[in-house]
Amino acid sequence: MKKMRMAHVAQIEDISPHMRRIVLKGDDLNDFPTGKEGAHFKAIFPQTGEAIPKLGTYPGFKKWMRSYTVRRFDDQSKALTVDFAVNDHEGLATNWAKHAKKGDLLGVAGPGDTKYTDYHAAWHLLVADLTALPAAGAIMEKLPKTAVGTAFIQVPTEGDKQVIAAPEGITINWVINRDLSQKALLQAVENMQWLEGTPAIFIAAESSHMMAVRQYVKTKPGYSKEQTYASGYWKI
Ligand SMILES: Cc1cc2nc3c(=O)[nH]c(=O)nc-3n(C[C@H](O)[C@H](O)[C@H](O)COP(=O)(O)OP(=O)(O)OC[C@H]3O[C@@H](n4cnc5c(N)ncnc54)[C@H](O)[C@@H]3O)c2cc1C
Repeated sequence: MKKMRMAHVAQIEDISPHMRRIVLKGDDLNDFPTGKEGAHFKAIFPQTGEAIPKLGTYPGFKKWMRSYTVRRFDDQSKALTVDFAVNDHEGLATNWAKHAKKGDLLGVAGPGDTKYTDYHAAWHLLVADLTALPAAGAIMEKLPKTAVGTAFIQVPTEGDKQVIAAPEGITINWVINRDLSQKALLQAVENMQWLEGTPAIFIAAESSHMMAVRQYVKTKPGYSKEQTYASGYWKI
């Protein structure tokens, strides 16, 4: 298990109707590694009726953890920015984010490694739903200026589009869809013009949606398993 740190909520901002940005601070973040934007960590939430998350490993500790993404880490102010998708569903993490107040405590285990396979690939394809928008956004902001490719990002409403500092050659297509019985990301990828050469591919979304897109890209010219990262971020 990676290092666990205690952090507190320093700032809360609803950056769109379904995305709540929470900035975490605290002395434990003084040695948080830099350059991990787009990598995941495990958020450790307080147990029912508690205010302080219990750090460490003990029977059942995973029940209180969920995966989140380092959207930004400011090494000067030691501030860790995390974007929480807040949909209509109820869940430990989402409920915590919805009700968070300044000073609330959250455990942070990790971060892991950034999973993008090749920042210098011939071209890039990123496919993400709302939960993977923080990761896709962080990856696009790390790509070299000369990078080319396409991103498909599914968000529930027009208002959930974000400004992402992606290279000019990366076209961001917002897939507006709140009906998750529709495989809208797959449809969008099926309709795109496939570029030449081997792409680096990032697919992260609800599991069945991720699998549908992964199945499709496998059939395309230039597909490389080694250059593809595909992960189910949550399950319907
Ligand atoms: C590597 C990785 C990185 C991630 N990074 C982020 C991130 O930066 N921001 C982010 O918002 N999420 C992120 N996620 C997704 C997040 O971990 C899940 O959405 C998580 O299950 C939410 O926890 P919860 O306690 O709210 O719901 P849970 O207790 O896990 O689930 C409760 C119910 O809610 C449903 N549910 C869970 N998530 C959603 C959802 N997004 N929409 C609709 N229904 C849902 C489940 O199907 C279940 O029925 C990431 C996941 C992974 C694997």
